[in-house]
Amino acid sequence: MARLYIVPTPIGNLEDITLRAIRILKEAELVLAEDTRKTLILLKHYGIENKLSSHHAFNEHKSVHAVIERLKGGSTIALVSDAGTPGISDPGFLLVRECLKENIMVECLPGPTALIPALVNSGLPCDRFVFEGFLRHKKGRQTRLFKLAEEESTLVFYESPHRLVKTLEQFAGVFGPGRLACVSRELSKIHEENARGTLEELAGHFRSKVVKGEIVIVVGGK
Ligand code: SAM
Repeated sequence: MARLYIVPTPIGNLEDITLRAIRILKEAELVLAEDTRKTLILLKHYGIENKLSSHHAFNEHKSVHAVIERLKGGSTIALVSDAGTPGISDPGFLLVRECLKENIMVECLPGPTALIPALVNSGLPCDRFVFEGFLRHKKGRQTRLFKLAEEESTLVFYESPHRLVKTLEQFAGVFGPGRLACVSRELSKIHEENARGTLEELAGHFRSKVVKGEIVIVVGGK
């Protein structure tokens, strides 16, 4: 039956994939990938041979209609991103929305995403949280931060390594230097680090070294 499967893939450790994800990637008629070269490495690792087609932020508006037509014709299609769950700070939302408009079944498999292990590793309350993803760099950033300063739930942000220190300093300025936080770096990889402390301490910790890798910042609520 025609269906779009959203298939989460590992965020670092290649063992972090479900049996169902592997089966769907084998059985789908087509795998849509953010970067076909990266996904090919993943498929080869699991011994999966399947057709790959490019579906990324720069072509999704163009390619979405062709994908919908294929699904309407009865195809089963799997969507993957470079890492983690498609739709979470990655392409996916647009295709899901268009499929639902056309009454095409969509199924998102449970699986890897960076925000959940970062949240749980932080030791901060994880019963309620707000996922902010990447903050805007300029327009509206300060306004958003002042709003978030009043938020009582734990806050989760994605950030690039070269902006980390500046962001932690800005968070300390807006949320207060003593607010507890955790920086998770390279989750599930060999050099995984979970640094916990106040925003001021964390800014100091990362100021003293060259920051590399992928990063999630978790900040306690007000
Ligand atoms: N779709 C992904 C997910 O479900 O988490 C997110 C993709 S987004 C383009 C990439 C960002 O996710 C990175 O810049 C980083 O903030 C976070 N991220 C992804 N993998 C990570 C890892 N292994 N450790 C820490 N953060 C990670």
